[in-house]
Amino acid sequence: MSPLSGRVALVTGGSRGIGAAIARRLAADGADVAVTYRNSPERAAEVAAGIRAAGRRATAIAADSADAGAIRHAVETAAAELGRLDVLVNNAGTFPYGPLADVTVEELDATLAVHPRAAFVAAQAAAPLMTDGGRIVSIGSNLAVRAGAPNMTLYAMSKAALDGLTRGLAHDLADRGITANTVHPGNTATDMNPPDDPGADEARAETPLGRYADPAEIAATVAHLASAGGAFISGASITVDGGRNA
Ligand code: NAP
Repeated sequence: MSPLSGRVALVTGGSRGIGAAIARRLAADGADVAVTYRNSPERAAEVAAGIRAAGRRATAIAADSADAGAIRHAVETAAAELGRLDVLVNNAGTFPYGPLADVTVEELDATLAVHPRAAFVAAQAAAPLMTDGGRIVSIGSNLAVRAGAPNMTLYAMSKAALDGLTRGLAHDLADRGITANTVHPGNTATDMNPPDDPGADEARAETPLGRYADPAEIAATVAHLASAGGAFISGASITVDGGRNA
């Protein structure tokens, strides 16, 4: 039997990149999957259609993670349309980059809304709907563990907050066997971080394994956390970065 057979997962920001890879992997492992999207309805529909073509149920839900009401609605819609909720993956994200002095309060608020606030709101909405033994996984960044360079203070802060969320949830939801963890990817080849960008060679040189991750490699860690093998992992932050932070 497939490891996630009979399970339902919701992946925020599942229209592209790491989120799409996670959605496809959880479906390949047997789960029915809902994805949210903001600007890429066609890409989200493509991900859902691919999952359906592979024999699982799937739905794509428009939900801007900056909108707490939309996030709550997406969680409820996923559970209602697919009949239950076992796995929540908080993945949707952006990459604010630039000098500290240039960060506006508007950008600060917008980033915090999409990263920690959306993850908190989604977890809060998902918990009462989730089956016992459910899983919450938030996608952070290795820059939250070690910022490593200038111009990423806001991004690092917004992703580091996910570790606090994860540790709190690990206590709050433990009585129901629900686990919470953060996965911190390093450089991963997506639209956000193309492997042919200026600076990519330097990033590879600073990474012991000498390359970018394929999004499927981040998805593999999420799939393990979602599986029976992940049942005793909770409150953890797992860096998947080819050794860059080592
Ligand atoms: P990406 O290729 O730019 O894809 C971002 C995804 O998030 C898209 O599906 C996008 O949906 C969605 N999204 C962004 N803002 C949203 C919002 N306000 N509401 C709903 N969905 C939203 O980025 P990625 O590289 O896959 O990144 C995924 C996650 O991994 C992010 O949290 C990112 O910070 C993290 N991460 C990435 C890397 C990396 O090197 N790539 C490294 C560490 C951490 P639409 O297109 O539909 O708007």
